Amino acid sequence: MTAIGFVGLGNMGGPMAANLVKAGHAVTGYDTSAAALERFAAAGGKAASSTAEAAAAGEVVITMLPAGAHVRAVYTGEGRLLESARPGTLLIDSSTIDVETARAVAKAAAGRGFGMLDAPVSGGVGGAAAATLTFMVGGEAKDFARAQPVLAAMGKTIVHAGPSGSGQAAKICNNMMLGISMIGVCEAFALAEKLGLDAQKLFDISAKSSGQCWSLTTYCPVPGPVPSSPANRDYQPGFTAEMMLKDLRLAQQAAQTAGAATPLGANAAALYALMVNGGAGAKDFSAIFRFLSGQRG
Ligand code: NAD
Repeated sequence: MTAIGFVGLGNMGGPMAANLVKAGHAVTGYDTSAAALERFAAAGGKAASSTAEAAAAGEVVITMLPAGAHVRAVYTGEGRLLESARPGTLLIDSSTIDVETARAVAKAAAGRGFGMLDAPVSGGVGGAAAATLTFMVGGEAKDFARAQPVLAAMGKTIVHAGPSGSGQAAKICNNMMLGISMIGVCEAFALAEKLGLDAQKLFDISAKSSGQCWSLTTYCPVPGPVPSSPANRDYQPGFTAEMMLKDLRLAQQAAQTAGAATPLGANAAALYALMVNGGAGAKDFSAIFRFLSGQRG
């Protein structure tokens, strides 16, 4: 049993913290939302009244917050996490944030003697509830080894990606691939429609040909070929277009800082921005098929 502090008990953090409780850990959690705190308490967690209280309660402290600005504020703000955690506490940020912030906060943590890992996840709310998340972890090997048993209570695949910031780098590179490949698959289905080629026939052929990829065979963006894909339930998420846009923007930010050429990533971000600005941000990201094929919504 490990004493764990958990800050950010939202759609992802809530079920992740609940799985830690289920695994027998003593979890003290905090969220600015009273409703999130109530759900956490109902799942057997101990509700704290501040970040400082949750931080001071743990040998390991996990954060799951919306974006980089929240992470900076929660860790380095006055009276916050870095000022409240006990000496020797291991800090783990599982939020998806920019690489620069991840490295800066880890550096500030190291300056106060704390080990810190960036450990963003993939697998969505379903993976968080089922404890089947994939963790992509950046930081020192000794901290990674220490985090393993805690992360194993929330996820199935746990990969040490390299030094600080590498987890975030892996996450945005993967999601840039996904955003681009989804648009590629959608364009092909939109062209097929114009050419009078049946969508199921294109699927049957491409699923066994060189166009094969996850966006096609697991998450097909047109209704029919893959019954479990969001296309068959009016594109209910899944993974929203808004979240895809967030990750594509993080990839663009990182590409600019690092001087990498990512022209298709830039186009993917622009297309998702159009879709989100058009009011479809809450739809699954595969609904970009509707946008590209000239359908509404
Ligand atoms: P969410 O908005 O549901 O949860 C974030 C929680 O943080 C909220 O409950 C909010 O009240 C709380 N919060 C904000 N500021 C706070 C503060 N200062 N102190 C304490 N609590 C604070 O978001 P989510 O869907 O749980 O996502 C969390 C992170 O996980 C994001 O970075 C997101 O990009 C990433 N992520 C989400 C998914 C997904 O499918 N939802 C998948 C992979 C990664």
